Amino acid sequence: MGVLLYTHDACLRHDTGPGHPERAARLEVVLAALEAPRFAGLDRRQAPAASLDQIALVHPRDWAERLLAAAPRAGYVALDADTVMSPASGEAALRAAGAVCAGVDAVIAGEGARAFCAVRPPGHHAGPRRAMGFCLFNNVAIAAAHALRAHGLMRVAIADFDVHHGNGTQAAFYAEARVLYGSSHQMPLYPGTGAASETGVGNIVNMPLDPGSGGTEFRAAWRHSFLPRLEAFHPELILVSAGFDAHRDDPLAALELDEDDFAWITAELVRVAEHSCAGRVVSTLEGGYDLDALAASTAAHVGALGA
Ligand SMILES: [Zn+2]
Repeated sequence: MGVLLYTHDACLRHDTGPGHPERAARLEVVLAALEAPRFAGLDRRQAPAASLDQIALVHPRDWAERLLAAAPRAGYVALDADTVMSPASGEAALRAAGAVCAGVDAVIAGEGARAFCAVRPPGHHAGPRRAMGFCLFNNVAIAAAHALRAHGLMRVAIADFDVHHGNGTQAAFYAEARVLYGSSHQMPLYPGTGAASETGVGNIVNMPLDPGSGGTEFRAAWRHSFLPRLEAFHPELILVSAGFDAHRDDPLAALELDEDDFAWITAELVRVAEHSCAGRVVSTLEGGYDLDALAASTAAHVGALGA
């Protein structure tokens, strides 16, 4: 079975304003990298819009409706110092969440073993009632909740290797034992959460890394802290918050990973998935702000997914 690729034009039209690091050029270089001949076998699909019922699995419906209504007819609206909406942002947010839900539906239906969602805005900072950190809806959390609700899964894992802690994802599932969440991230760094002592109901595994940590420390953390827990959890589905801002060239953080490290963790997650859930992995783009590093890292990740 092949690898599915979900994206949508609206994700390119989500405009965060001049000088913003989370910009459309990020998705442009990702999509260009995935046009290389080695990716000719990707099963390319349009991301559907998530339904409000799907969004409401994580974000209260009244809050989600107010967020969508906050998009301006022209120009920009800043929700906080770094989270901005433009006219296309509402559709982009719905398509981003819808992509990950559609990826879940497709891999469970056996249409592909794995899926990558090349979407923006990213999602893992968005809390149930709070857009923040470039994120509007929490795409991966909505997809996890959708897998529980629509497909009746009882064990869904989320692996998050973005350099920032996925505080919104953690908050969504802090008391939800059916979801195992593992995150490696630089600490201290925005948003400030993600200490190893934050363990939820035993389902949260935080792996804070000191600034300057590289592949050795990153791989040791996953190998010793999360991968054994993941194997023991025996997930029915693995979701990935694939941020590439832990790359050594990224301007927003100070970890020292390279493309090989992203390929390594991806291959490890696929290995566990092959063992426990017919290889089902659905990954979605989170951060990554150096365009060259982002393109190369995404290609390494999607290649390791099996494309
Ligand atoms: Zn990030």
